[in-house]
Amino acid sequence: MDCLFCKIINGEIPSKTIYEDDLVKVFLDINPNSNGHSLIVPKKHLRDFRELDDELLLHIHKLINKLYPIYKEKLHCEGLTICNNTELGQEVKHFHVHLIPRYPNDEIKMLSNKDILLDLDEIQSKLS
Ligand code: AMP
Repeated sequence: MDCLFCKIINGEIPSKTIYEDDLVKVFLDINPNSNGHSLIVPKKHLRDFRELDDELLLHIHKLINKLYPIYKEKLHCEGLTICNNTELGQEVKHFHVHLIPRYPNDEIKMLSNKDILLDLDEIQSKLS
């Protein structure tokens, strides 16, 4: 399969790997938003969040809780943004979780076009 992250997993393409086990590889994002911006990538090719199973989800949850204290100690971050893009906004179509250590004054913001936002009551009635 012609997948960038599968190639990183199998070593065809190099990565700055910081952790690896039977289920996942964690490497530094090539275009980081902060010092330590990392990607948790399952070794099995999963297209996106919808294909994730409970075992892997729990594994990733536990791993984040192991890695975060290390980032705090070694990088002196004071927070962690944990995110995943699914479909629109997902550049690499192999499931991954972004770990973005946060620092005071890092100015990381989620920018959006407020002009296309609907009224909150309208959204609530659509979703509830
Ligand atoms: P997403 O838009 O959620 O699919 O994020 C894909 C991420 O992969 C982006 O943050 C890219 O900077 C990152 N990325 C792309 N190519 C590489 C690479 N060769 N090594 C490490 N990270 C990469």
